[in-house]
Amino acid sequence: MTRRPDVAVIGGGVIGLALAWRCAQRGLAVEVHHDELPGTASAVAPGMLAPVSEADFPDPALLEFAHEARRSWPAFAAELAGASGIDVGYATDGLLLVAHAAEDRARLAAMYGFREGFDVPCTPLDADELRAREPLLSAEASGGGFATEDHHVDAQRVREALRAAGQALGVRYVDRRVRSLDEVSAGSVVVAAGAWSPSLDEWPVTPVRGQVVLLRDPSGGPGLRHGIRGVAQGQPVYLAGRDGHETIVAATLDHTGFDVQPSAQATEALLRKAVALVPALAGHEVTETRVGLRPDTPDHLPIMGRVPGRSDAYVCTGHYRHGVLLAPVAADLMTELLVTGADGIPAAFTLNGSDQRRNVRRDDSSTCALHTADEAPVGDGVAGPGAPAARRLAGVHRAHVRGHRRHHLGRLDRAARGAALATVTMAGTLENVLMSVILAVSGGTTILLSRAVGASEYGSLRPLLRAAFRLTLAITAVICVVLFALREPLARLILGSGEASAVRLSVDYLTVAVPGIAVFYGQYLVDSTFKANGDTRTPMRMAVLSNLILVVADPVLIYGWLGAPRLGVTGSALALVGSRAVTLAVTWRLYRKSALLREMNAAPDAPAAPGRARSARSCRPACRSAWTSWCGCPPGC
Ligand SMILES: Cc1cc2nc3c(=O)[nH]c(=O)nc-3n(C[C@H](O)[C@H](O)[C@H](O)COP(=O)(O)OP(=O)(O)OC[C@H]3O[C@@H](n4cnc5c(N)ncnc54)[C@H](O)[C@@H]3O)c2cc1C
Repeated sequence: MTRRPDVAVIGGGVIGLALAWRCAQRGLAVEVHHDELPGTASAVAPGMLAPVSEADFPDPALLEFAHEARRSWPAFAAELAGASGIDVGYATDGLLLVAHAAEDRARLAAMYGFREGFDVPCTPLDADELRAREPLLSAEASGGGFATEDHHVDAQRVREALRAAGQALGVRYVDRRVRSLDEVSAGSVVVAAGAWSPSLDEWPVTPVRGQVVLLRDPSGGPGLRHGIRGVAQGQPVYLAGRDGHETIVAATLDHTGFDVQPSAQATEALLRKAVALVPALAGHEVTETRVGLRPDTPDHLPIMGRVPGRSDAYVCTGHYRHGVLLAPVAADLMTELLVTGADGIPAAFTLNGSDQRRNVRRDDSSTCALHTADEAPVGDGVAGPGAPAARRLAGVHRAHVRGHRRHHLGRLDRAARGAALATVTMAGTLENVLMSVILAVSGGTTILLSRAVGASEYGSLRPLLRAAFRLTLAITAVICVVLFALREPLARLILGSGEASAVRLSVDYLTVAVPGIAVFYGQYLVDSTFKANGDTRTPMRMAVLSNLILVVADPVLIYGWLGAPRLGVTGSALALVGSRAVTLAVTWRLYRKSALLREMNAAPDAPAAPGRARSARSCRPACRSAWTSWCGCPPGC
């Protein structure tokens, strides 16, 4: 029987593997639960070990951490190579900073300035000195410098070596996707799941996409002597030689959620800058393009330490653009915490840090306010002595359903959390806006009508209800058709055209949700009839029914449980519309059976108020209006 591990690490990127190895060295039984998802950052990073890049370490705690990491790398690389037998390509030959054209010098000068501000050495070089160090540089290279402190490793080999070193000490690798912390049985669980960490709890980590291109020289000519941090056409680019004939060109930086498809535009932009700096690369073959997802946080600082409220859970993520550099020190601090309980983690990196932006998991409920139609009636129109309590209860219920949906959508892997939540939030907001329009128009017209014809009796209420019903149906139909036709441009407008994956998901979601809006408004109308007659209980019960159905149907259709197809956000839309449709059918049945309807049907038509509704003179203006003529006039008009 396998021993229950002392520590289970979720995520086998460079951070998780370094931690697992260090813990095993301290005699702990360690398991790594890992599923290699497309976009794993450690599989893409070129491995610059730069204690300062352009403007990356504005925070003093992170700057100090980075310096310490840089200092620890020589010993770490040597120890790792010894333990694994794998050469991790640790190179100390420094980094050339190169401006292509004269106008790129301003950007490069800013890089120098930044470095000098943090006491990181960089020797200025003119164009000739640059080419003496790196003969493959373009004749147009206008100037630059040499950063002796900037080293680099082969990040993919580091990962291989960490895995092998861990294995030699008995680390067990479990090939699986962990869906919840409770699935893992261990003395302590550490989440090191990179950009996917929020699928295990609501940490404020978001993916920042980076694409790299790998080139190979078919002629077998000499490769680059140094890593190059260049600026060409006003944009930075990083070039590093690999295994003699390979060159890695890195990297783009954009916010497109979990989209990991390499793009032609990014490839073109990277190659254009690379060839401008090193023209010989134009003759190289493109062997591969890769996309990785950097785990970023709102303040760009890592999130490390204990998980508040859980004695056995820890987190180590959010190392953004520097995870390879920071891996040794992050692993050491976390190991110390796990083994001895000594917490040497800088306060700024913990979840208890002073920056409120990183406290999202405990108190933020506003980031993704999901609206479900069924929530609207809950608490709305609740009158009487118990109203505040009922509203509070409704609020709790609403928050619960909202949290539930966020949880499931946030755990989607491909239809990424950010895009999926943005989609559903956007659709909910649209629904609310449109509902206001529909209610303003239909409610306003109904009030005008009732003023014109008088509505104190059921007899006159009946045709008014009929008119309001037809009116709402008509407006709803128009809005649904228009919204359906415009769903793609609207999604682009609201989400921005850069959010390609969110826009795509939104269109899928709205394809189902827009026709479902009619059901929502139907429910609203029937609920309003109950409420207008003092029955607030039925709408509340129906809201609870709808949300109960939704709570069950949502995960079934999102994940494809119980043999259902796995539909992601489309499943979420289907669950929403389906739960509303079932509830409307039940409410309608209750309405048909209710004493209210019987009473209304039994009531005789109201007599005309003298000089008011029944007089053709006073009724005619209302009848002549476009709305009433097609909604049907009150009897006697
Ligand atoms: C283009 C690019 C260039 C970069 N350049 C550099 C650089 O030069 N220097 C530098 O220091 N840093 C660089 N970085 C940043 C660095 O790569 C990251 O900070 C670092 O790799 C993060 O490591 P990680 O282990 O936290 O995450 P990852 O490497 O992403 O690993 C997390 C792993 O956990 C797995 N996982 C997620 N969820 C689960 C789950 N629920 N169950 C099981 N497994 C799960 C994922 O599949 C993934 O394999 C770069 C990143 C990119 C994308």
